[in-house]
Amino acid sequence: MTKYLRAFSRRATPQSLPIHGSTQVLDNAGGYAWAIDDWGRLDRFLVLGSEGGTYYVGETKLTRDNAEAVLRCIEADGRRAVGRIVEISESGRAPKQDPAIFALALCSAFGDDATRAAAHRALPRVCRYGTTLLHFAAYAQELRGWGRGLRRAVGGWFNDRPAKDVSYQAAKYQSRDGWALADLLRLAHPVPPDEAHRIAYGWIVDGWPGVGEEPHPDEALRVLWAFERAKRATDTRELVSLIRDYDLPHEGVTSEWKTRPEVWEAMLESMGMTAMVRNLATMTRVGLLAPASEATKVVVGRLRDGGRLRKARVHPIALLSALTTYRSGHSAKGDATWEPVAAIVDALNDAFYASFGSVTPTGKRLLLGLDVSGSMAGTRCAGLQTLQAREACGAMALVTSSVEKTCTVVGFDTRVYPLAISPRQRLDDVVGVLAKTGGGGTDCALPIRHAIDRRLAVDGFVIYTDSETWAGSQHPAEAIREYRRKLGIPAKLVVVAMAATRVTIADPDDAGQLNVVGFDTAAPELIADFLRS
Ligand code: CA
Repeated sequence: MTKYLRAFSRRATPQSLPIHGSTQVLDNAGGYAWAIDDWGRLDRFLVLGSEGGTYYVGETKLTRDNAEAVLRCIEADGRRAVGRIVEISESGRAPKQDPAIFALALCSAFGDDATRAAAHRALPRVCRYGTTLLHFAAYAQELRGWGRGLRRAVGGWFNDRPAKDVSYQAAKYQSRDGWALADLLRLAHPVPPDEAHRIAYGWIVDGWPGVGEEPHPDEALRVLWAFERAKRATDTRELVSLIRDYDLPHEGVTSEWKTRPEVWEAMLESMGMTAMVRNLATMTRVGLLAPASEATKVVVGRLRDGGRLRKARVHPIALLSALTTYRSGHSAKGDATWEPVAAIVDALNDAFYASFGSVTPTGKRLLLGLDVSGSMAGTRCAGLQTLQAREACGAMALVTSSVEKTCTVVGFDTRVYPLAISPRQRLDDVVGVLAKTGGGGTDCALPIRHAIDRRLAVDGFVIYTDSETWAGSQHPAEAIREYRRKLGIPAKLVVVAMAATRVTIADPDDAGQLNVVGFDTAAPELIADFLRS
């Protein structure tokens, strides 16, 4: 009889077969899971992107699959798609802006009239800087070209912002991706709303014939004057005062000056948070950041300022990536080296948690399961070359485990690895532990089986995975029902997607199961809300 039951059971279906009567589909690893709907895929794509692909699916195919899902959303309800793109972009929930810009370009190219109009209205909200506008232009050119509505929207991007900001964007982002702001002005040909705009557009398209000793009389245009002066600067003092007095961005400082600590010290004063995080290694190499230096105190203070981090929308992935690279003391290619400053490593660690915002503890008993299978090691996190999804999911899990009192963390592939991870441990140590754990096949039901076998009291299971499960004798959705039945606890299951795939192991018809997107800054609070309710 067991032979017959093994072949057909409503409670334990091998993952290589679909649960009887369910709508499960074949995943990329040869197992069965549920397909998420197109709106769920839009969210995953906007947050996780498709750069680098996954272990199973190459970047090109993953991008195409996601683009098709976005197109189906546009067809179903284009304005809703634009609204979602704006919402995720403005909230800073995603590590990278590129997926949102690409999705907006799809709306602009393939939407109906109302969708296109909504996409064009959203252009300055999604493309907030010159650099993102240039990315958009590159996509728009490839997808459809330039209609009148789009040209008008690009003209509005320039005309509707203050002349001072146009000047600053122009000094900072002259060209990217084979596009220059000058190309966009020629294409859109906006009629400048005032004299300052007219002069700024003139600088962008033709440059100025020359600049004198005196700063430009219009304050809005002084950064362009400083930019021109900096090109001709011959001593450090002159350059430093141009940087200090006119907020000259680092794009206006040529590379031969960038070996001098006093130049970096001046740039640090008004440097944005993202640029600061990106340039920690360089500022250390030139000697500005040293143990107990004044600049180190400034940097550490800013990294520990949660309000400042969130206002600047510094994403936790950027901080995690900076932490692992900075601490290693050498660049990814290995051609640059520096002596990492311990205080900065510690501050980056704290900044990671602060960048998620505050998470309210649930007080529930939680078991966090980290997928450490081979595919999670082969998938890069949000396109970062330096970070495996396997390592990154440990960091993500720490955000929840650091606030919860009763929280067990295990790793799994086709066996369970108890992980002695403590919230007091530094992030890079946890990442280091995970880099050496697992690497085998995938059975996403195992963390739940682990709790059933040991009769562990758990209110919520949180599983961090690419959802490509195949090796188990029972589906995770069946395991959670068995757990509830055997232990009499109405446990919930949260699945955190660590790659923008089309599948999930959470049963969409079970209100006690939830999908969230990994590395969405809103995810830890979404998880807590669901487990609390
Ligand atoms: Ca796997």
